[in-house]
Amino acid sequence: MRFSKLLIPTLKENPSEAEAISHKLMMRAGFVRQLAAGLYIYLPLGWRVIEKINRIIREEMNTIGGQELTLPLLHPAELWQETGRWHDIGDEMFRLKDRGGRDMCLGMTHEEVMTWLASKEIRSYRELPQIWYQIQTKLRDEARPKSGVLRTREFLMKDSYSFDIDESGLEESYRIHEKAYRKIFSRCGLKFYMVESDPGIMGGGMSHEFMAPSPAGEDEITLCDNCGYGANIEIARAIPLIPKFPSWKLEEVETPEKRTIEEVTSYLNIAPEFFIKSIMVMGEDGPVLALVRGDQTLHEKKLKKIIGNFRPAHRDEVKELLGVESGFIGPMGHNIRKIADSSLKEGVYVSGSNKEGYHTKGITPTRDFKAEYFDIHITKEGEGCPSCSKPLRIEKAIEVGNIFKLGIKYSIHLKANYLDEKGEERPIVMGSYGIGPARIAASAIEQNHDQNGIIWPQSISPFQAHILPLNSKDPKTTDVSERIYSGLESNRIEVLIDDRDERAGVKFKDADLIGIPYQIVIGEKNLKEGMVEVKERRSGEKRRFKVEDMAGMISFFRK
Ligand code: ATP
Ligand code: MG
Repeated sequence: MRFSKLLIPTLKENPSEAEAISHKLMMRAGFVRQLAAGLYIYLPLGWRVIEKINRIIREEMNTIGGQELTLPLLHPAELWQETGRWHDIGDEMFRLKDRGGRDMCLGMTHEEVMTWLASKEIRSYRELPQIWYQIQTKLRDEARPKSGVLRTREFLMKDSYSFDIDESGLEESYRIHEKAYRKIFSRCGLKFYMVESDPGIMGGGMSHEFMAPSPAGEDEITLCDNCGYGANIEIARAIPLIPKFPSWKLEEVETPEKRTIEEVTSYLNIAPEFFIKSIMVMGEDGPVLALVRGDQTLHEKKLKKIIGNFRPAHRDEVKELLGVESGFIGPMGHNIRKIADSSLKEGVYVSGSNKEGYHTKGITPTRDFKAEYFDIHITKEGEGCPSCSKPLRIEKAIEVGNIFKLGIKYSIHLKANYLDEKGEERPIVMGSYGIGPARIAASAIEQNHDQNGIIWPQSISPFQAHILPLNSKDPKTTDVSERIYSGLESNRIEVLIDDRDERAGVKFKDADLIGIPYQIVIGEKNLKEGMVEVKERRSGEKRRFKVEDMAGMISFFRK
């Protein structure tokens, strides 16, 4: 295609609102434009990338027997009411009424509609298993749309759903999806990890996320390089590091005006690991004291799984319950429910005495107070892997895909049943699997760029080669450029030719910014010797080819 005929509005400067590298580069290279918060327009180059990703997704989904179909975006509320998600999901769902006053919503995911379809169309075990998928728009009123196309309010998702007769069938559908996902992300040139994750509003049993490591990621994952364990930090487990404890006797020590952990530990000259942090929260059944070590951070989601919803206690509530302000509270001498991090089962600690100006030294938790022990702290770098105990690593990552074992939750609510061999009615066992093509594109940029611009993996690049005629006023340059252009096109290489009447410097800059993997530079000096130069964008490697040597150039592109 011709640069002069395409809408490629490159920018000289980074847009000021963009933080993530992929956001800056997609804007600057003329791939996308923002219409409003979380709403993006894909310009021709951007759309070519998305279409390439979608093609790879389709190929791999078809390979595992997926059948493509498409569902409406506008859903009647009843389906969502039947599964309970009309109520469970909050402001993230766009809701509206039709002219007859009926409640409707915009599809933020399609479990309800897919299950409805299965309930209507599947009768017998003979028709199972099935995998149905679509590449369809989703609408979510995200609380914080950000980082360009990484988190938008309208986005494409490949969502597939598996329907099986039993758990072992689901196991197989899950396994082949994992395989397809690994192929999709590898073919798109991404570095990624598959990690255990929290099923969240999907419900059901097990789920895994596919994570592309990048500083722009909103998720943190814990990884074990030794055995391959990986988990989203939201559910990550770890073996805490146990320090060598001092042998203190139990005693009250005066700590005047020392309230924070830093103040107390430095005043008493002890390490934060020897301190018990007491955090008072108000749960559904009353107050709870959450206890973690001074070097740990309370993981609110883990605590929520144990005690249900809660909020931090107000100052006066703390004062009323323990008779002292929060700087001096501790686990001893009262009957408030205590949830302690498992690491506290061992060791000797300092904590508040529930008395103004005092802390207690020498506390042995299992001896000195009653508590329920759970893992409630946020896993830290260096803690032990739960399966092999080697040190864990933590990385930021972008969630590019997600697979869930739904089980029969949706089938029960929406009566998606089949008749088994004995003619008995049973609920269909389901799985649900999502991929965000826009996140693949942005992650590819996050992982593949330099100071000059994007470096596309060949498989998802908008074009495979970029011809740069340096002097567009020179007839020989134009003639050779056009010949190479049509020669490559007839060999089914997708080529962009920069036929604009621009200076060489401008063309070079735009070519590096746009990031097509190979640049064919047509310059007068080389032409005198009947040669052109081909540069690999990633390595900067340059190679000269004879003007007629189309086969040589093509094999270089495919090396
Ligand atoms: P997140 O935790 O980042 O909000 P999610 O768990 O809500 O993601 P799913 O509902 O599992 O995501 O959606 C499947 C896939 O759709 C995700 O793995 C991601 O690639 C993509 N996706 C989800 N939300 C967005 C969004 N707001 N913008 C772009 N892509 C998205
Ligand atoms: Mg989300």
